[in-house]
Amino acid sequence: RCGFVAIVGRPNVGKSTLANALIGSKISIVSRKAQTTRHRIHGVLTREHEQFVFVDTPGFQTRHGGAMNRMMNRVVTQALAQVDVVVHVVEAGKWSAGDAQLLPLLPADGKTILVVNKVDAVKSKNDMFAYVSKIMALHPYSAVVPVSALRGVQLENLLQEIATRL
Ligand code: GDP
Ligand code: MG
Repeated sequence: RCGFVAIVGRPNVGKSTLANALIGSKISIVSRKAQTTRHRIHGVLTREHEQFVFVDTPGFQTRHGGAMNRMMNRVVTQALAQVDVVVHVVEAGKWSAGDAQLLPLLPADGKTILVVNKVDAVKSKNDMFAYVSKIMALHPYSAVVPVSALRGVQLENLLQEIATRL
C-alpha cells in the first residue's frame, strides 16, 4: 500500500512533533524536487508493506478575511481532496475556535482520521471520553486514535489506521 497523508490541525496541537515521530529515523531524505502540484512533501515512511508520503497542506494559518479567506479555503479543500488520508490533529481536552474553523474544510468521505494528541497530559479518562464524543459528533470521522506524539504512544496503531485507508 502507498499513498498521500495530510496532517492538519490548528497551530500548537503537535503536528510537527507527530510527523517527525511517525517518520522517525526512517526518513528518506526528500529532494529539492519533492513538490507535488498542491503539496510540499514533509517526509516519506517506507516499510515492508507500506509507503506513507506525508504532506504539508498550505493555507491553514491564514488570518485574512473576506474574499482572501474564501480563496484560501478553496485551496485547502482542493488540496485535501487529492490526498488519500487526512489526519486531523487536536489536543486532548483543549478544543478551540481554531479547531472548529477547520471542520468545514475536512473531507466528508470517510478518509479523515481524528487524532487526539497529548494524551500523556490527560488526568481523567472520563473527561477524555466526553471530549472525544463531542468532537466525533461534529464531523463524519472514520476513526479516532488517541496518541502522544511526544512519548511515542499509539503511533503504530495510527499507522495501521492510515494504512487500511490507502
Ligand atoms: P504544531 O504547531 O501543530 O506543529 O505543534 P508542534 O509539533 O510544534 O508542538 C507544539 C507543542 O506541543 C510543543 O511544545 C511540543 O513539544 C508539544 N507537544 C507535541 N506533542 C505532544 C504530546 O504528545 N504531549 C505533550 N505533552 N506535548 C506535546
Ligand atoms: Mg508545526
